Amino acid sequence: MFQVDVSFLKDNPGETIKLQLEGPLPPLGEGDEKIEFPFPVRIDLELTSTQEAVLAQGTIQATIRLNCARCLEPFHLQLEAPFEEVYYYTGKGEEDWIFLAGKVIDLEPEITKAIFSEIPMKALCREDCRGFCPACGRNLNEEECRCRQNKVDPRLAVLEELLK
Ligand SMILES: [Zn+2]
Ligand SMILES: [Zn+2]
Repeated sequence: MFQVDVSFLKDNPGETIKLQLEGPLPPLGEGDEKIEFPFPVRIDLELTSTQEAVLAQGTIQATIRLNCARCLEPFHLQLEAPFEEVYYYTGKGEEDWIFLAGKVIDLEPEITKAIFSEIPMKALCREDCRGFCPACGRNLNEEECRCRQNKVDPRLAVLEELLK
């Protein structure tokens, strides 16, 4: 899906092509950590050829489905990730360049990495997610529990003591 035949670029140094690719991506991780792509992932890409490499630059747009770090409910998060890689086919290349053996670039692994690096460490379903009540374990986004109300205000407690 995210494969591009770059034989034209390899044969024509100095050329640039622009393209848009869109397709599904397999889920990342497992269990509670699992991140899914409910919609096709899209990349707007510009490929430029030099004598020795193809430069790929673009922007990825993806929606991911993951679990909230606070209430653990799944939710959708929209991400935009910059994409920049160099695929070289002659010479030694720089440290973070990727060697291109044939004429087809498979962008998928790098797209996945680029998305991954944009995912916040503690992603919340919403900024004011209330999470769980530490006492009864209820999801406080869904229902109010009585634990808080039952906690007696310390000032009132003093008063209660005096009234006895
Ligand atoms: Zn949440
Ligand atoms: Zn509670």
